[in-house]
Amino acid sequence: MKILLLGGGGREHALAWKIAASPLTTKLWCAPGNAGIAQEAECVPVELTDHAAVVALAKRLAVDFVVVGPDNPLVAGIVDDIEAAGFRTFGPSKAAARLEGSKGFTKDLCRKYGIPTAAYERFSDAAAAKAYVRAQGAPIVVKADGLALGKGVVVAQTIAEAEAAIDMMFGGAFGTSGNEVVIEEFLSGEEVSYFALCDGETAIPLASAQDHKRAFDGDQGPNTGGMGAYSPVPAFTEDLERQTMNEFVLPTLRAMKEMGCAFKGILYLGLMLTAQGPKLIEYNVRFGDPECQVLMLRLMSDLVPALIASRDGQLKNFDLRWYAETALTVVMATKGYPGAYDRGSVIRGLDAAGAMEGVEIFHAGTKAQGGEITANGGRVLNVCATGKSVAEAQRRAYAAVDRIDWPEGFCRRDIGYLAIAGEKHSR
Ligand code: AMP
Repeated sequence: MKILLLGGGGREHALAWKIAASPLTTKLWCAPGNAGIAQEAECVPVELTDHAAVVALAKRLAVDFVVVGPDNPLVAGIVDDIEAAGFRTFGPSKAAARLEGSKGFTKDLCRKYGIPTAAYERFSDAAAAKAYVRAQGAPIVVKADGLALGKGVVVAQTIAEAEAAIDMMFGGAFGTSGNEVVIEEFLSGEEVSYFALCDGETAIPLASAQDHKRAFDGDQGPNTGGMGAYSPVPAFTEDLERQTMNEFVLPTLRAMKEMGCAFKGILYLGLMLTAQGPKLIEYNVRFGDPECQVLMLRLMSDLVPALIASRDGQLKNFDLRWYAETALTVVMATKGYPGAYDRGSVIRGLDAAGAMEGVEIFHAGTKAQGGEITANGGRVLNVCATGKSVAEAQRRAYAAVDRIDWPEGFCRRDIGYLAIAGEKHSR
């Protein structure tokens, strides 16, 4: 099959690595790709916001299947547009991608179908939102309804902070994404990500993972797109997994089908393991980045038939096999990220680091320039390793990080710390 993968981050490098390894793949292109993806696929420049250009590319390459990595094009309806041109495409339709594109849509769905989530209300004007915040008290969570580059959530510790967030969102800080605001109850507990592959009717459990959103060790500093992850999460037991499939994933699939927007693709659940059981923080409609990287390292089965079965509604009786080992990834970012940072610094030692036992390196924001790999973004590399325990995977990943010569980069040194504390405790 001739396959076109859309995207250009670490998630797409991991997907390209797995898709390229499939015996079904005869040719893989990635648009726009990056310097690491170029080792697995032929990269083609394209602007993913320009759906007509993407469709023209699929036509020119005469591809058999298209895989969409990132959230923005999915929410903008790229799957509908590519499918309309006659190309089978993996991912949810625009109507189904509202599970990620509108927090209010998802909250209403949870309320209607009894899916456990934080108590909430939706607002379209600041005064009513502020009155609600004052009545509820702090801590409280303020969310822009639409996509906001991962910055649309404010966990407010005080009423003043919540009111400032409401003003900021209605003031247009996130454009039309902030025309409506969701205010919800603050949940406490351990956060876990869980992934299921869906075909509109059937869902296949994938695996759990834990992301590390803050920039610095000990979950300090500003929020980022994710500084590291590991899978599986020991706290996410088989019982919890079964409960999650039965109380979240399957009712959501039934609800979406009933509403005439059957969900196909990856359903990504952000869960809080509260004292009252798991509650939904949010849905996403694609693989997480960097969670995808650790999932692909653990997936034993061929990914390509699974993606096709999702698109074709054939997941019934489908089965995926996983390695029991832990996979862990450390994100190396350019100093300054998630604030302002420079581009173009040279990264050395990648080959030696990538050759170490159990190690795989995926590129996020990199560029090949004059025979060298240079940094071309905030999050730049995913240094991944597998191991028999989270501690072993962590040790291997940081040994590889230490081989990389990139003075302009930084990373957290504690990815996986919650699970490693648990491993020590149970020994
Ligand atoms: P999101 O952008 O929706 O992933 O939210 C960013 C982060 O905000 C989440 O990963 C949680 O850590 C936190 N968060 C979101 N909603 C809540 C909530 N209701 N209670 C506590 N923390 C939350």
